[in-house]
Amino acid sequence: MVRTRFAPSPTGKLHVGGLRTALYAYLVAKQNGGQFLLRIEDTDRGRFVETGTMNILQSLYWAGIVPDEGVVLQDDKVSQIGDKGPYIQSERLPIYKKYTDELLAAGNAYYCFCANERLEEVRQFQQKNKLPTGYDGRCLKLEKKEVEAMLAAGENSVVRLKMPKTGETVWNDLVRGVVKFKNELVDDQVLLKSDGFPTYHLAVVVDDHLMEISHVVRGEEWVSSTPKHLQLYAYFGWQPPQFAHLPLLLNADKSKLSKRQGDVAVEDYCAKGYLPEAIVNFVAFLGWNPGTEKEIYSMDELIKDFSLEKVSKAGAVFNVEKLDWFNREYLKRLSSNEVTKRALPWFEKSDYFKDQKLKIKDREWLAKVVVLEKDRVITLADLPQAVKFIFELPGYQKDLLIWRKGTIEEVQKILPELKESLNTISIQDWNKLILEQKVGEWIKQKMYSTGSVLWPLRVSLSGQQNSPGPDEIAEVLGKDETLRRLDVAIVKLSS
Ligand code: GLU
Repeated sequence: MVRTRFAPSPTGKLHVGGLRTALYAYLVAKQNGGQFLLRIEDTDRGRFVETGTMNILQSLYWAGIVPDEGVVLQDDKVSQIGDKGPYIQSERLPIYKKYTDELLAAGNAYYCFCANERLEEVRQFQQKNKLPTGYDGRCLKLEKKEVEAMLAAGENSVVRLKMPKTGETVWNDLVRGVVKFKNELVDDQVLLKSDGFPTYHLAVVVDDHLMEISHVVRGEEWVSSTPKHLQLYAYFGWQPPQFAHLPLLLNADKSKLSKRQGDVAVEDYCAKGYLPEAIVNFVAFLGWNPGTEKEIYSMDELIKDFSLEKVSKAGAVFNVEKLDWFNREYLKRLSSNEVTKRALPWFEKSDYFKDQKLKIKDREWLAKVVVLEKDRVITLADLPQAVKFIFELPGYQKDLLIWRKGTIEEVQKILPELKESLNTISIQDWNKLILEQKVGEWIKQKMYSTGSVLWPLRVSLSGQQNSPGPDEIAEVLGKDETLRRLDVAIVKLSS
């Protein structure tokens, strides 16, 4: 059974890099008919953020990555499901204690009483002399009796991994191929801290084993920790999982992706009006490529086509323009009703909404408004502004009404005539097809050039240099408002 997990630390908001890790782990589980777990790694109490778990869950659910087991959302509350829990590490302290004791008893771990100051001195000495940094093994030399006496005296202690200092640790990484580390360069990692909490390294191994994880998918920053983890698997006599270390995410300038160069939290993209489908599709391509031209992938298609073997080792550049492209593609593909439904929160927040509440409640009408601009905007958040001209005619200069090949006298003549002609169209017939046809016939009959009529009509209705076509706008505005806007233009022209 393939079982993967996403094991974030609740230190703030879910990062797009975290979303990618979760997505890849989810895809590996789903394409093998397996299970995807969510475990919360909250043993670093200094970095713990109370709202972190909720934020991670909300972002994952928003993206459609729902755990089968572990920490889940139920009735909008953080809860846990599964028979291998608890799935929050701070609730598993006795388990880690038990395994630490086992390592100590077998001589595979040891107590260390060194104060931080001493460790700092050692580190500085090593750096100055260009030596590999790490614990120098002083407490490894303590006699059993000395250790017992110090423990009995209540001296501060941690438990360290006794890493062999010869040989190599080798594994076949599903992304990076064969990876080798010289054991002498691997630190005697702290496994249990003086506050009784395990470090990540102990907890991750114990939990991945007990939770029967078959594939560990995680960021490249953990590659150098993997030898320690494999050593722990060996000491416990456990079969290690397969490892896949994902490439770093980079800014456009190839530096490590950071907040300083733009948003990195999934929540921020959600708030900016990006669609979850677009974010998932975009994030899937950060490091993975199907090797074909196809770029638009639904979650189901990703489940079918994704493979860790096709994930690159090289860092993946986080390119917001590409995300914008994906978002536009998805906005085009979604129905206007769907886009309207999703854009509603942004309409409700927009400055002009209050006065338009009644109109906005008419969803069918709003969907027609949305159609006007949904293929042009980048995000849902752009929509209310893009269609604002429907709700409020913007102020504009009368010169805007003059077509580039026309004159003011011509517009002054055409617009009143056009208004009269439009007035003869009944409210029942007031739709873009009939409008287009009638206006077209009228232009022919009057022998005007198309631009000399359609340009001022469109500007009268939109008040803008650029906008959708006049028939579409007129349909959405309705007959009364269309004629009123023509009046506004006619008055402007005579002033
Ligand atoms: N808690 C670790 C993190 O937040 C998990 C690393 C792993 O997946 O093993 O990155």
